[in-house]
This record gives sequence, C-alpha cells and structure tokens, in this order.
Amino acid sequence: MNEKKISANNSVPTGTTKDAVLHLSSYITGKAIEKGNLLEVRSPYDQRLVGTVKLANASDAQQAIELALKGGQRLTRYDRFSILDKARLLLMERKEEFAQTISAESGLAIREARYETGRAHDVLMFAAMESLKDDGQIFSCDISPSGKARKIFTTREPLLLALCITPFNHPLNQVAHKIAPAIAVGTPVILKPSEKTPLTAIKFVELLYEAGLPPYMLSVLLGPTNEIAEPLVKDPRVEIVSFTGSVAVGKHIASTVGYKKVILELGGNDPLIIMEDANLDTAVTLAAEGSFRNSGQRCTAVKRILVQESIKEAFVEKFVAKAKEYTCGDPASPDTKVGTVIDEAAAIYLEEVVKKAVGQGAKILLGGNRKGALLEPTVIVEVPRNAEMVVHESFGPLAPILGFKDIDDAITLSNSTAYGLSSAVVTNNLDWALRFVKELKVGTVNINEVPGYRIESSPFGGIKDSGLGIKEGVIEAMKCFTFVKTFSMPW
Ligand code: NAP
Repeated sequence: MNEKKISANNSVPTGTTKDAVLHLSSYITGKAIEKGNLLEVRSPYDQRLVGTVKLANASDAQQAIELALKGGQRLTRYDRFSILDKARLLLMERKEEFAQTISAESGLAIREARYETGRAHDVLMFAAMESLKDDGQIFSCDISPSGKARKIFTTREPLLLALCITPFNHPLNQVAHKIAPAIAVGTPVILKPSEKTPLTAIKFVELLYEAGLPPYMLSVLLGPTNEIAEPLVKDPRVEIVSFTGSVAVGKHIASTVGYKKVILELGGNDPLIIMEDANLDTAVTLAAEGSFRNSGQRCTAVKRILVQESIKEAFVEKFVAKAKEYTCGDPASPDTKVGTVIDEAAAIYLEEVVKKAVGQGAKILLGGNRKGALLEPTVIVEVPRNAEMVVHESFGPLAPILGFKDIDDAITLSNSTAYGLSSAVVTNNLDWALRFVKELKVGTVNINEVPGYRIESSPFGGIKDSGLGIKEGVIEAMKCFTFVKTFSMPW
C-alpha cells in the first residue's frame, strides 16, 4: 500500500468535484464499509483525483470470512446462469461508463478500455453458458476381467470459500476472470483487487449485486496487505487462493499459503519469433500490436522480438515505420493508441532498463522518451541476450529486437528466460511450426498470431516462473473452484 495516498480519515478530500470523482467502498458480503481510512486513486496521466475507496481492516477481513461461510440461499444452475447473464446485459448498458473508469484510474488509452469491456462481456457470457452444463462423468466398471456390475459417477461440488487476488493491468477483465467462473459453480469469493485500480473492480462487484448475486457470495476488500491479503492467504478456512500478478508476490504466496489449493498466474516474457519465410507485413503488425497494445502491460505482451538474421534488416525498417503509428498521449483521447503505464515509478524503471541496455551496446531506433508515467513506444536493436530488459519481464511499451541464426538458435533463445507463459511464431513452414509447438517451454504457442491470442473460455496459463501449469480461462477456472466427488452404485 505505498503507491497511492491514504488519508487517515473517511472524509472526502477537498478540492474535488463530487460529480467527477467516484467515492466507493470495500464491501463485506453486500454491505459497504462506512468507516475506514480512504485510499485516493489518482490518474497516472495528470494526477487528478479519480476516486476514493473506504478501506477495510483486519477485523473486516475476519467478518467477511465468517459471513461467506455462514452462506445463504443456495443457487441452482439456473440462478447462476440468470445472475451472470443479467450482469452481462448490465455491463453492456454501462460499457462506456466502465471504459471511462478503467482509462481514468489506469491510464490505459480509452480504445483499450472499451475493448476490455467487450472481453469482460465474453467472460460473463461463457460463464453463464457453462453454468448450465452438466459436469459429471460415468464409468462402467464391468470393463476388465476383474470388473464388477457397478457404475462410478462423478459430480463437482463448489469449494466453500475462494480468495481471489488480481493485478492492475486489466482492471475489469482480470476481476471478471476470477469471479464469473466462481459464481458459475457456486463458490463464494472474497476479492482483493489491486490498490492501483480498485474503482473498476468495486463497480463490477456492485453490478453483480444488482444482477441478483446473493451478498454472501461476494466481498471486495482493500486495505493494508498485512491486515487483508496476507491473513486471508494464510487462513485455513479459505479453501483456494487464486492469484494473478507478479512472480515475486506469487512465490511469496506459495511459501505462506499452507495446505490449500493455489492457482498462480504470474508474469511473462513472451517472444514473437519471426522466421525467414514469414510474411513481413503480418510479422510487423503482430509485433506492433503485441508490443504496444495496453501500453505493453499484458502478461502476454510481446516482450522480445526474435528475428532470423537473414530478414532482420528488412523487418526492422518496416517495423519502425509501423511503430510510429502508435501515438502516445492523453488516455482520454480517442486518437491515442498508447496511454501511460501504471505509474511514474514503472515508467522510470522501464527508462532505466533501456538505458542499461544502451550501455551494453543496444541502439534506440524510436521513442524512449518519458514524461511522468507516459513512455513512448520504444524500438531497440542490438540488444544483448543478457540485457536486464530481455532477461526479466519489462511491463511496458518496449520492443527489443534480437537476431537469431536458425530454428535451433531461436528455440534456445526463446527458452532461455525463467518465464514460460506464452509465445508466438510467424512462419508458413509446417515443420517449423510443429517443432516450436513441441519444443517451446511455455503454456501456449500461437502460430501467425500474437502470444496473447485466446478466447475467454480456452485454457490459459503458464509454466516455469509464469505459473504452476494449472490453467485458467472460464472452463478451467470453474474446475479449479470445485472438487470432484465420486460415488458408485451397483448396476
Ligand atoms: P503484483 O504487484 O504482484 O500485485 C498483484 C496483486 O497482489 C495486487 O492485488 C496486490 O495488492 C497483491 N499483493 C501484493 N502483495 C501481496 C502479498 N504479500 N500477499 C498477497 N497479495 C499481495 O502485480 P501487479 O504489478 O499488480 O501486476 C502486474 C503483474 O501481473 C505482471 O508481472 C504481469 O505479467 C502479471 N500478470 C499475469 C497474468 C497471467 O495470467 N499470467 C495476467 C495479468 C498480469 P496491492 O495492489 O494492494 O499491492
């Protein structure tokens, strides 16, 4: 809790226009916290006050657990479908309001924020659809010499309580990806969103209550890490911790969570690998979209552009021209393609890693200038393989280009970091494509697409430092929030 200012009372800060500023609160099972310190949320672009949030404390966290476990009206499949579908419709009615909030508190360009509301719509739609499907299996037992005249059946039961912790980079969609699958299976959730983007998360929680979600099913708590997140992670009454965020925090959670289910969706360092047979226009478009969309702040953004030496010069020339189209500026302007990164500290970090790479011989071909939290899309060549900006995750609009000799070199270079989230390859050669699918140590390989390509219900998640290999995406996440009960009967 150090990026944004906390004031030690619950009065609305002076100097703000009530109409322009959102005043929201943590919620314990549908009830807004009335007294609590205030978190001020400021625009990363111009530091104006966007909203305030009344914070919860340690006893609120305990109360949230008790009330969720006390429970309430048990939801049928049809109830869960109806709530999710109503939420989807409400979100579509208010998509512009949500987009404005996302953009204001995160600094993301408004076009990106609008796109995100469409993704959250899909999450709700798929979760609603899946909630209606049966999830059981049947095994006949008379199928081996020692078999019996019995059948084994499976059914999925909801976990009693989930803690979901979300990052700042997709303020709505990350939250939707945790809560919607949990609702679809009937698992109550305590949500701990990022303190950097809490307003969108709380508005989404309010929308779900309005859609008919029983209050015991959802609380949203913001407050000091040592009073909210850490005790909740360790509490044995929480049956699953589903975390999306950085490697450092994810590994810390893994070491403190104790005996319970844990889902870790962590950072990435995804390569876009461009083979010498690639269609250069396709490669250039994918490289620019992958590197600069969402200000480069996607876990699956293109963080390394790896190009076969024989076509590198031609690619670089076209790519620099394309990158110039990604105008950077006021997130509220519809003409802006790249807004700010999440805060000035993040922009300064990115500027530093670029400088360090330049110190090692890299050359900036475009961008590199910073004003506050605004960092221009930056194209860098001659980046050494051991530069910090390509060994570690650089969460911003940086496009480092590295050359490789042949497919063996590309696979080695691609697999050389600690991460293993996603990847993409531009080629029309089927043999090469298949080798990449088999040999890249990652959760996803996309051929002739960006690494981030997915639909909201397909399995998604990484390996190595990017995660434990347990997938999310609506269908897989629904499985995570349940356990399988098996029963058998004579047949
Ligand atoms: P972060 O700093 O790890 O924070 C993520 C969440 O963890 C926030 O809600 C944060 O709360 C909370 N948190 C901080 N310390 C904690 C602790 N000790 N115990 C429990 N929770 C704690 O990540 P971020 O900077 O918001 O997000 C960017 C990262 O997320 C990048 O690395 C990105 O690649 C990754 N990401 C991964 C995926 C994926 O699916 N693999 C998707 C999106 C993003 P506060 O805000 O209150 O500190």
